[in-house]
Amino acid sequence: MKLITERTQVRDVAARWRAQYPGSRTDDKDAIAEKLDALDVDTATAEDVAAIIGNDSWCGPSTCNECGAVVTVAVMVGEEPYYESATATLCFACVEKALSLMGPNSYSTDPPVRQLIIGQQPDSG
Ligand SMILES: [Zn+2]
Repeated sequence: MKLITERTQVRDVAARWRAQYPGSRTDDKDAIAEKLDALDVDTATAEDVAAIIGNDSWCGPSTCNECGAVVTVAVMVGEEPYYESATATLCFACVEKALSLMGPNSYSTDPPVRQLIIGQQPDSG
């Protein structure tokens, strides 16, 4: 699970680029990798990254997989993203909705489900 913002995307864009093109020996991909490595990730913007790569897909807004909202702050859950991975991006509103579904006030169980999970102990046999 990880937070997705413009800053987090700028911070890991060079690593993501190299993961996407691991065996690349083409001059253009390598040149982009070197420029991304040279970025000051504490001050660079999504526009700086787009100027290097040539498009804004690497540091752009995220689309919530639950409601479809396009947001600048999201949480990515599930497997590390790759082709056909079980990965979902959620906006704040949908995370709140998920919490309300699991919260103690939404169940008639006693104790609430959250406490049951926290209270589980491994079988000592
Ligand atoms: Zn959403």
